[in-house]
Amino acid sequence: MKIMAEKVLVVGGGGREHAIVDAMARSEADVYSVMKNRNPGIARLVKAHFLIKETDVVKVVQFAKDNQIELAVIGPEAPLEAGLSDALRNEGIDVVGPSKKAARMETDKGFARSLLAEHKVPGNLRFGIFSDNPSAAKFAKDADFQLAVKPIGLTGGKGVKIEGEQLRDKEETLAYVKEIFDRSIGGVGVVLEEKIVGEEFTLQAFVDGERVIAMPLVQDHKRAFEGDLGPNTGGMGSYSLQDHLLPFVTKDDFAQAMESMRRTVEALRKEDCAYQGVLYGQFMLTANGPRIIEFNARFGDPEAMNVLPLLDSNFVEICHGIADGELSSSKVRFAKLATVCKYVVPAGYGLEPKANLPIEVDEKAVANAGAKLFYAAVNEENGRILTSSSRAVGIVGIAPDLEVAEANCERALKHVRGEAIYVRHDIGRKEIIERKVERMRTIKG
Ligand code: AMP
Repeated sequence: MKIMAEKVLVVGGGGREHAIVDAMARSEADVYSVMKNRNPGIARLVKAHFLIKETDVVKVVQFAKDNQIELAVIGPEAPLEAGLSDALRNEGIDVVGPSKKAARMETDKGFARSLLAEHKVPGNLRFGIFSDNPSAAKFAKDADFQLAVKPIGLTGGKGVKIEGEQLRDKEETLAYVKEIFDRSIGGVGVVLEEKIVGEEFTLQAFVDGERVIAMPLVQDHKRAFEGDLGPNTGGMGSYSLQDHLLPFVTKDDFAQAMESMRRTVEALRKEDCAYQGVLYGQFMLTANGPRIIEFNARFGDPEAMNVLPLLDSNFVEICHGIADGELSSSKVRFAKLATVCKYVVPAGYGLEPKANLPIEVDEKAVANAGAKLFYAAVNEENGRILTSSSRAVGIVGIAPDLEVAEANCERALKHVRGEAIYVRHDIGRKEIIERKVERMRTIKG
């Protein structure tokens, strides 16, 4: 008897979603896609795709019904905020992606900090939430610590400014706070929180409402230029190690971060918004241990491209475990390999990107170099691949150790060509990692 392949819908058309579709295809699912751009990597792997805005809940649900979808994975945050996971669940479809209510962990920074405080989750920071400029300004003036200024709603990861970095002094902080209210940046108000110092890492986990199963740790690089300089971006690249930790993160640090994640999931359950999906914890390792920078309600981009290629177990089964509340750690295995992901982006990305220019990719040569290739915000038109103003192609070197993974990534990058492209070549290299380890040693004292 032939067993029918599972029908899976993946929502989104970026590098993260290409990695999700790839993992689904390896698990022998029949994959369908909705995305706003025609990602050529996704288009090739799926049975059918539908080019629409991923937040158009009615149309996405109709496409899912028309194709008898049994399982859906939601890649980006905007459809979660639009209520897509709830609407798909109402149709009896298993969904990896929290309800709109639970996704407030990402979409409402005020909700997230308050929940952590009320439930005494370890790793939280001192903070205040404000819906008007005078009270925010008073808090900022009175605070005897430096601040991180965060618009409450979604800003595409670009609204956060830090005292001593993007904000030179208190005056600039007060001016930015005022601008957030005057221009309604993020829409809902502002969170002012304690600025902390350390090295950041990402802990992603599969969550079935109760159980929290970790994926390998990853370190992303948000700054546009080499040496961690320049403006913040969506992420220029990332690496992970074969032991699933990071060079500056001990087993004990990891255990503490996991405790923060478990307690957060427990808090959400107690508040009657059980979390079912991928929970992304952005942590900063400080002199006092890991502290929570923020949570996201989905895989990271680029971090998904580091971990999903290492998944040795059946992704479809894991996803059903998440949706049915029956996840088992025995079903989740990641290969003990190192990965280095570098994003090819349009020149000027982060400042004034040059868009709509052709790039040429020799996919066979990339694979021969020991790397995986994930298309991101590109469009395929008349057989040509055109860049947009966002990240274009993620190249992931994979090998038993970091040095070889980095070398594989670099060899593969030579097979992505274009007139106006840029890559942060320092990511995953010994020099930058040693600097981070040294910095952490100094901070820990
Ligand atoms: P977010 O959008 O919350 O991830 O913030 C963007 C970046 O700002 C983070 O990756 C950190 O580098 C930095 N950041 C956010 N919150 C803090 C904080 N409380 N202290 C220091 N840096 C922070």
